Amino acid sequence: MNGPFSDILVLTKILQKVETMGECEYMGVCPFFNNKMNAMPANAEELKNNYCKTNNLHCALYMIASSLGAEKFPLDVLPTEKDKAYAIIAQG
Ligand code: SF4
Repeated sequence: MNGPFSDILVLTKILQKVETMGECEYMGVCPFFNNKMNAMPANAEELKNNYCKTNNLHCALYMIASSLGAEKFPLDVLPTEKDKAYAIIAQG
């Protein structure tokens, strides 16, 4: 298919990809995203916007799950707590 219609289709696909970039693949199983932590912080929704929906690669929980597996999600580490993540990953 050629012409402006195919250009619009290509552009739509690119925009859909950009929209989903950074959205975390662990949203369905992550205890933080699903409010299952031992204690949820007051700014949980802000963190979800800043990490889960935008920039998961910088999330401490993402680092742990992607290194050790989703079954290793801790219940006491927040997305901002990378120091804890490094220590947990180092221990295996
Ligand atoms: S807290 Fe981290 S691992 Fe969990 S859904 Fe958000 S970005 Fe992903």
